[in-house]
Amino acid sequence: LVSRLQPFTSTIFAEMTASAVRTGAINLGQGFPDTDGPMGMLQMARRAIAEGVNQYPPGPGRPELRQAIADHRLTRYGTEYDPDTQVLVTAGATEAIAAALLALVEPGDEVVVIEPYYDSYAAAVAMAGGVRRAVPLRSDPATGRFALDLAALRAAVGPATRAILVNSPHNPTGTVLSGDELAGIAEVCRENDILAITDEVYEHLIFDDAREGSRHRTLAALPGMTERTLVISSAGKTFSATGWKIGWACGPVELVHAVKAAKQFLTFTGGAPFQPAVAHALRHELDWVERMRAELAAKRDRLSEGLATAGFGVLPSEGTYFVCADVRPLGYTDGAQLCRALPEQIGVAAIPVQAFCDEPDATRHLVRFAFCKRNEVLDEALRRLRRL
Ligand code: PMP
Ligand code: GLN
Repeated sequence: LVSRLQPFTSTIFAEMTASAVRTGAINLGQGFPDTDGPMGMLQMARRAIAEGVNQYPPGPGRPELRQAIADHRLTRYGTEYDPDTQVLVTAGATEAIAAALLALVEPGDEVVVIEPYYDSYAAAVAMAGGVRRAVPLRSDPATGRFALDLAALRAAVGPATRAILVNSPHNPTGTVLSGDELAGIAEVCRENDILAITDEVYEHLIFDDAREGSRHRTLAALPGMTERTLVISSAGKTFSATGWKIGWACGPVELVHAVKAAKQFLTFTGGAPFQPAVAHALRHELDWVERMRAELAAKRDRLSEGLATAGFGVLPSEGTYFVCADVRPLGYTDGAQLCRALPEQIGVAAIPVQAFCDEPDATRHLVRFAFCKRNEVLDEALRRLRRL
């Protein structure tokens, strides 16, 4: 294995899911729902297979899906993308992220990631020959919310900085970046002529939407950002279809053109029968998404309250599938050690937050639990966790 990939041999999600399968543990580690997405979308995919939509779709994605993606962005966020030149369908958000970095980062360029960061960012930066610069989210001592340290962001950027990767709603902390935080990032990007790559895969999974400051905003809509932002999202979380791997990237013509150049030699194309189904879902299943979002909010509360009863110190989660919890009140100090023992010991799998960090000390005590599971599964996991 080449040296630049040696730190990335096995992902924490694969490791913990394998451990859950081996021990029969309840898997609150890897974030995937245990119920299916909207019936109309599933039927569309079945019908597409039956009707012969089984060969290579066009490289940039089927036209009806690109149009549906562009319409969705315009309706929700007011951002306008030409479906022919500014929208690219990818094999999940993961491919969009990797293709973007391969296409836009020269060897030696610096890429800022906000720590804790989703694990594929570091591997994709490394594959592109880039240099990762981590900027921390810091937990507010009063509320526990993880907030962006803008001073640290300013200190981390310089002449070698090419891009910043921004993920909101944020995996693993559940933070939704506020208008002020996004405005701060935008200012840094504009002043230093930096590209923004935004990972918005949890854009629909925000729970306290009515509260000012807790609504999904896209960095691309801020002044001076449309022309320097590549927006990435995916159907996986919005429509509970994580295995379909239909994602997309939207942005200025030249950025999308560049990403397309890399993408065509990674997978060329994929997911033929799923593409019309996702196009249908973006147009007709957003009411389903709203109901799912309300259910997920209740699950967040159920798991958060249950973890608190079990003795964890529970941090607030504003969005995503995840809630983070402090294990120190239970007498443990190391979340990774605990996560390695948990499946065997009590039959529950979870993810240590330090797996998302270059500097593990700040989050050593934190464990991430996924609540995108049926209530009876959450309740059984909580029953087991109370034995800790
Ligand atoms: N970004 C984040 C923050 C994620 O949590 C995930 C996992 N779903 C992805 C990207 C990957 O998305 P996809 O499955 O569409 O490749
Ligand atoms: N995005 C999911 C998570 O954070 C899982 C992704 C994966 O297995 N690579 O748990």
